[in-house]
Amino acid sequence: MKRILSLILAAVLAFTFCVPVFAKSKKCRCSMTPVVYIVGFGDAIYKDLDTDEPVSVFPPEGDAIAKAVPDLLVAVGSLLTGNNDGFGKFASKAVNIMLGSLACNADGTAPENTGIDPMGKLTDTHKMPAFAPEDGMDEGYYKFRYDWRLSPIDNAKLLREYISDVKAITGHSEIVLAAHSQGNTILTSYLQLYGSKGIEKVICLSPAYQGLSLIGSLFKKEVSISHKGDALEEYLKGIMGFESAQSQLIVSVVSLINSYGIVDFALNYLQKVLDDELDRVFDECLIDIFGTMPGLWAFVPPEDYEAAKTAMFGGDKKYDDIIKKTDYYYKKVQTKTTDILKKAKANGTDIVIAAGYNISTIPVTPAQATHGDYLIDTENMTLGATCSTITGDLGINYKQAEKSCGHNHISPENTIDASTGAFPEYTWFFSGNGHNDFGEEYCEFIEWAIRYKGQPTVRSSKQYPQFMAESEGKINPATGKSAVDERCDEEIIITSAFALIKESVFG
Ligand SMILES: [Zn+2]
Ligand SMILES: [Zn+2]
Repeated sequence: MKRILSLILAAVLAFTFCVPVFAKSKKCRCSMTPVVYIVGFGDAIYKDLDTDEPVSVFPPEGDAIAKAVPDLLVAVGSLLTGNNDGFGKFASKAVNIMLGSLACNADGTAPENTGIDPMGKLTDTHKMPAFAPEDGMDEGYYKFRYDWRLSPIDNAKLLREYISDVKAITGHSEIVLAAHSQGNTILTSYLQLYGSKGIEKVICLSPAYQGLSLIGSLFKKEVSISHKGDALEEYLKGIMGFESAQSQLIVSVVSLINSYGIVDFALNYLQKVLDDELDRVFDECLIDIFGTMPGLWAFVPPEDYEAAKTAMFGGDKKYDDIIKKTDYYYKKVQTKTTDILKKAKANGTDIVIAAGYNISTIPVTPAQATHGDYLIDTENMTLGATCSTITGDLGINYKQAEKSCGHNHISPENTIDASTGAFPEYTWFFSGNGHNDFGEEYCEFIEWAIRYKGQPTVRSSKQYPQFMAESEGKINPATGKSAVDERCDEEIIITSAFALIKESVFG
């Protein structure tokens, strides 16, 4: 703790006193290019930022949750007694109580005195490590945080100021720009607005720049959960794996009740409720809370964008200004992502893309679940790699689509053809690596990619071929064997339950 405090203090001092000095004179000649890391979605959002006691509205504070409990209970009661109308009404009320203060204005701007913690901006952002292990506290990593509700275009403008601060503080004229998940919508917006001059390399981790099929479906008001028992089972296997007795037990129990059709029965029942009440829940809370956030609109895949606009806003003039913002991002950045990155590459900026595969996306969309990192679709993260369904493969007669480079770009499982992606030579795939998993060896890979002199490719290191597999923090070249192929049956449930009991009794 002391160490962290002193680092923060040092950072604040450095920031307050040294900027003008460094900015004018000092040039650093060391070979460690500073890294600006754009974090992913989910920074805490506050209201009452002009007071001494800002209140967290995301995640909602205990007060807001406690206030919503009575309505939540009525909603659940209504659901169980088949009163769909009551469910819709009280679920909307509860969501409004918990998250209502998070909403943006109808024009997609943040209400006054709401946003991320500005103190954090001065301390955390300027000196906290991005990928370094906890006690590693590397110098030279600068985290860029932002209000994730807002347009990536507006956040890219703040990023520009931030990058010029970092250059001034460090005395370097070039930086490496790394981003995780949503951060990549800001990274590509930055490149579109300001070009790639001064950016030595971009590191795109689990990039959301082509959106998520999950959010596309939700924003089109299409939630499809009936007959998804098997898909849900597959999803759980993907995110939980078989690494601990607990996860084995949960997956096996779900698998068992699924085999009796109970999961499908429950999901089909819920689907009927959704069919009756979904429009109302959207009208009474979801549109005004989430539909007003341009940052979330950037998560809608290009192919869903127009339909989502119609579903969410109809023709309501009230939303004209937010549509202007989201249209701009859609037209100038999202649908141009490949061109933007190719132009940066042509101008000398190196590119690294890393994405998970072999984990199903959340199975609530009408389409069949595909490869992802449990949140984002692998195809979207890799700008067009061909992916099989999560339970199938590309087929015994499948031939690599693009062969002109002369390498193999098909995964050992025969599930991914990387050759159709925008950058097959610079895109790495990590089987089983979840969206927010930053295991030690994955971080080492990122560090390797950052520090590699020039453009690393999927053939630069035997240690890091195109297809890797993650297990318990370790990464190894993928072999084609999947950890989730094991059978779930009564025997596993009994064995893992015993293992759990043994563990908790005997330590
Ligand atoms: Zn230096
Ligand atoms: Zn190739």
